[in-house]
Amino acid sequence: MFGTMNLSDKQPKKVEGEAEKVKCLIIGSGPAGYTAAIYAARANLSPVMYEGLQPGGQLTTTTEVENFPGYPEGITGPEMMEDLKKQAARFGTDIRWGLATETDLSQRPFKVTIDSSKLIEAETLIIATGATAKYLGIDDEKKYAGGGVSACATCDGFFYRGKDVAVVGGGDTAAEEAMYLAGLCNKVYLIVRRDELRASKVMQERVFKTPNIEVLWKHQTKGLFGDGVVEGAELYKNKGEANEEIVKIKIDGFFLAIGHKPNSDIFKPWIETDEVGYIKTIPGTSKTNVPGVFACGDVQDSHYRQAITAAGSGCMAAIDSERFISENA
Ligand code: NDP
Repeated sequence: MFGTMNLSDKQPKKVEGEAEKVKCLIIGSGPAGYTAAIYAARANLSPVMYEGLQPGGQLTTTTEVENFPGYPEGITGPEMMEDLKKQAARFGTDIRWGLATETDLSQRPFKVTIDSSKLIEAETLIIATGATAKYLGIDDEKKYAGGGVSACATCDGFFYRGKDVAVVGGGDTAAEEAMYLAGLCNKVYLIVRRDELRASKVMQERVFKTPNIEVLWKHQTKGLFGDGVVEGAELYKNKGEANEEIVKIKIDGFFLAIGHKPNSDIFKPWIETDEVGYIKTIPGTSKTNVPGVFACGDVQDSHYRQAITAAGSGCMAAIDSERFISENA
């Protein structure tokens, strides 16, 4: 399934000093990375994990997690990630601060530079760097973070039962999130910047058929308002046109669904991705096009993007690593 790549022009920068040699290097510390660490540590791979820019990953920005099996009363995202970290450390994972800044995956051992200064040589590499939800870039998104602004309807929708919410975006994610929220909420506004949806026809039809979804065509977000929490949004209608106007909607939740950016840039010279940047894995495995390099979690999953599916794929990556090491010892 993978094409061939010309690697001759991808020369990494030189880092001074002796490289540290590790059996299994895990980059990223969301549910995928920690689960990979738990399994790799228990398989005696002495994994070393670098946590990356956002230790704990995207879940540390959510409040209550109620859909991860095993927590009947729910748990906060940060607490769950702390539990996973403790579990990974308990079996001997060496968890470190630091960001992978460069890679050379042209041959084994794989070379990974941390913080542009430290060189690691790894027999196997597990990429669990996740994806980052895109935001509009308006100040109010930060102001109301945790107070009505969310980039994950499946994670946070439940808190808006019976209320009015808005979803921004016109792709399949926005359509899906609007449908999901429509099942929980009183009313869902879908804020679409053009006069058509990018979503697939079948999703569009579902959206149009759902009575409590109202599509606001040619609307863009100007700002949010509310006393501490979101109480409404101010929108431009027909922005930049002669009939431009500003409209207000009353909402309790504001959901971004304008796409995610997988954190795969530093691997792209070696690892095949799709056009958006999601790492391609051989279906049913965590194997990438480079033998010995495995990917798990949101960096390779544009579809499910749930903590539990990330954790499952992290387990697969550790098992694939362990088998790779025993077959290539
Ligand atoms: P997409 O890139 O497909 O869509 C992003 C949407 O957000 C577009 O409608 C875009 O508008 C809008 N947008 C982008 N930036 C802004 C902005 N600054 N202000 C307002 N609107 C903005 O991302 P998705 O996450 O929806 O989908 C990603 C991929 O995953 C797609 O290939 C999709 O098909 C797939 N997917 C499939 C699903 C399924 O099959 N069930 C479910 C979810 C995703 P515009 O159209 O004007 O560019």
